[in-house]
Amino acid sequence: MDQKTYDVVIIGGGIHGAFAAREAALRGLSVALLDRRDFCGATSANSLKIIHGGIRYLQQLDFRRVIESARERRNLMLIAPHLVHPLPCTMPTHGMLMRSKRVMTAGLLLNDLLTSGRNRDMSPEKQIPAGTVVSREEFLQMVPGITDVRYDGAAVWHDAMVYSSERLVVSAVEAAVQAGADAANYAEIVRFLMNGKQVTGVVAKDVVSGDEIIIKSKVVVNNTGPWSNEVLLLLEEKVTMPVTGLALELNFVLKRQLLKNHAVGLAGCRKEDARERLLFFVPWHGVTMVGTYCRLHAGRVERIQVMDQDINSFIDDINNAFPPACITREDVALVHAGLLPIEAGSEMWPEPEPLRHYRLIDHGRKDGIEGLFTVLGVKYTTARDVAEKTINKVLGKLGKWGGFISRSGSTPLPGGDIPDFERFVSEARASAPKELSESVLSNLLYCYGTGYMTIIEIGKTDPGLLQTVGPKASVIGAEVINAVRNEMALNLGDVVFRRTDLCSAGLPDDDTLKACARLMARELSWDKSKIEKEIASVKAAVIEV
Ligand SMILES: Cc1cc2nc3c(=O)[nH]c(=O)nc-3n(C[C@H](O)[C@H](O)[C@H](O)COP(=O)(O)OP(=O)(O)OC[C@H]3O[C@@H](n4cnc5c(N)ncnc54)[C@H](O)[C@@H]3O)c2cc1C
Repeated sequence: MDQKTYDVVIIGGGIHGAFAAREAALRGLSVALLDRRDFCGATSANSLKIIHGGIRYLQQLDFRRVIESARERRNLMLIAPHLVHPLPCTMPTHGMLMRSKRVMTAGLLLNDLLTSGRNRDMSPEKQIPAGTVVSREEFLQMVPGITDVRYDGAAVWHDAMVYSSERLVVSAVEAAVQAGADAANYAEIVRFLMNGKQVTGVVAKDVVSGDEIIIKSKVVVNNTGPWSNEVLLLLEEKVTMPVTGLALELNFVLKRQLLKNHAVGLAGCRKEDARERLLFFVPWHGVTMVGTYCRLHAGRVERIQVMDQDINSFIDDINNAFPPACITREDVALVHAGLLPIEAGSEMWPEPEPLRHYRLIDHGRKDGIEGLFTVLGVKYTTARDVAEKTINKVLGKLGKWGGFISRSGSTPLPGGDIPDFERFVSEARASAPKELSESVLSNLLYCYGTGYMTIIEIGKTDPGLLQTVGPKASVIGAEVINAVRNEMALNLGDVVFRRTDLCSAGLPDDDTLKACARLMARELSWDKSKIEKEIASVKAAVIEV
């Protein structure tokens, strides 16, 4: 990276930075992408995995956002058909006001009209049916155990869900690299290079070796989400600080399967303030994920602290919204915690409000510091669209307008060139090695799409690598080797949290972690004490309940 002068350096390898790097590379720019930790090591890994179709924005009469979200849901299902799938959702109706059958029926109708192009050129598995309102009896079949007598039926619609938010980011990075980008994880931006009021690049610290690298660039994009202000402080110039406050948001992955196929939105009130909180319960890899708990975050971005009180309040919220669930601490397998920028002034409210619209700041226009943009995204769902708009601005700054049309909404991500996902699955089943169980094969197809063949090829070099890494795991040894050789995984955490599906429903047992660490040790020449250190750091990364 220190040998070139890039058109653009992107700081931050979450979903927004990864898509921005891919967008820039697809549009012919020379680009470098850097993250201080692993790709998708922060907020983007902690989302509720819902690719919103936008129906929620009808309540705010934000029709533009409804249309935008539905378009992005379609784009993601097109470019990553293995990772993004329709998700049936439901919410009970009651009373005469906003959640009544009549209002919900009108809302679903309007949503269908606004998103009428959603099924254009989509294969049968990706079709999003029209929304409908069903009877109480039908609702109780979808969500067993509900006893609330107020519910007189339910609205039913479809969003989509990402099978692995981490693999989608890693695929976007890989796509950027395939299109010519240079990418590095564990490379932290520690300074900006300046020529007067012009940003001319960055200084990055290699977190592994401690070395500093000078990276020259015509434009720099600060895509660091919650870290945006901290990165701008490195400028030592007076600039607009885009983050006015941060909310801590939590999801739980529960050990139990509470739902059949439908995600469900249920509201409950806390006794102390009688405020209604809406939670989403989502079927997730054989168990249940639920979100989202929200409170104001004080202090530095790096210091996310989940308190006992947060866990207790969230458990109460879950039981208030879905009393038959009867959740206790023992039911919580994983806590996802992330920080989101909030609306200015909402830090005074009982619960802060996450930023409603993305922000794209040209610090040249705003602060007289040329060659620098900051992007604050608000949803995983719309990150590709925000990336397209960001790179439009970068192209304008570079004076490269003519002929650049974005193809990022229709160009498949690596492994995603699959016109018909159901056909792809049945053809793969017919030809896959016999030693792969149904659950292993399915996991490979959903994680890697057509790239599953690369994993199988690695497995063929050593039949042991086609075995799972533990008796309860659906991940095979060849995936671990692939992560190290082809996907820039450096630590055990990179492999178990972000390259494979191993920890999606909870931390596996010690033997499984050990098996993965030993496979990595073969590739990276780790000794026994390094293996132990890696296992300990994976355990330390999990928030204790
Ligand atoms: C609990 C929760 C649930 C959510 N659910 C959903 C959902 O269901 N659907 C949805 O669409 N959205 C959801 N969201 C929102 C979505 O997850 C975020 O909007 C999105 O992930 C933010 O991505 P990002 O790339 O901007 O930030 P991040 O993913 O945080 O990426 C920023 C990156 O910048 C890097 N960085 C920071 N400083 C430096 C530096 N000095 N040098 C180099 N790199 C640096 C960090 O290491 C990090 O990887 C949810 C969010 C939370 C917290």
